[in-house]
Amino acid sequence: MSKTLQNDRFYCPVCYRVESEVRDELMARIHQWETNAAVLQEMIGEGGFCSQHAAALLGIGSPVSVSAIAAGLTERFAERIGSENRVALAENGCYLCLILKQAAGSILTEIEEALNSTAFRDAYLESAGLCLPHLYELMARVKRDDLRAFLIEATGLQLRRFAGLCRSYREKRQHLRRDQITLDEKWAWLTAIEKLFGHEEAIRLP
Ligand SMILES: [Zn+2]
Ligand SMILES: [Zn+2]
Repeated sequence: MSKTLQNDRFYCPVCYRVESEVRDELMARIHQWETNAAVLQEMIGEGGFCSQHAAALLGIGSPVSVSAIAAGLTERFAERIGSENRVALAENGCYLCLILKQAAGSILTEIEEALNSTAFRDAYLESAGLCLPHLYELMARVKRDDLRAFLIEATGLQLRRFAGLCRSYREKRQHLRRDQITLDEKWAWLTAIEKLFGHEEAIRLP
């Protein structure tokens, strides 16, 4: 875990792990949904998509694949539309949101356990740390007072580090010292906002 965090200089490991799980699930499923009506019906029964994950499907699927999936979905919608007050495909919420919630839960459990190790805590201080939405979720799980105090202190340090990087980036840009901009400074404007509010799947770090 601390090895993972050392690479996570720029972003919340929970946000990015979850995004890659969602992506993997979509990559693995699109062909099945396209070619197997029973599997497609299963997905619809499990919840269809929210608008964010519908956009993820559009981003990953080809027009030909999505056409097959959309045909199945729209037919199902047409069957239901007259018989229900609320026009919604999803019975249990979004299929991918459910996967996302499970993936976030399992990595938060890993982090919660790893926090007991000094090596992990050292690596955590150096990393970007969790975004604030995931930090609050983690804080709700952590019972030890010293670990809660560590998380608060670490987050304060990480936020101040981002503030410094954003300021030095701006200063170097304004004074034509572009060549002196470090990699951390270069992406601080984006990673600082993600640190505060979480990562949105539509945005990609280059
Ligand atoms: Zn996050
Ligand atoms: Zn969703």
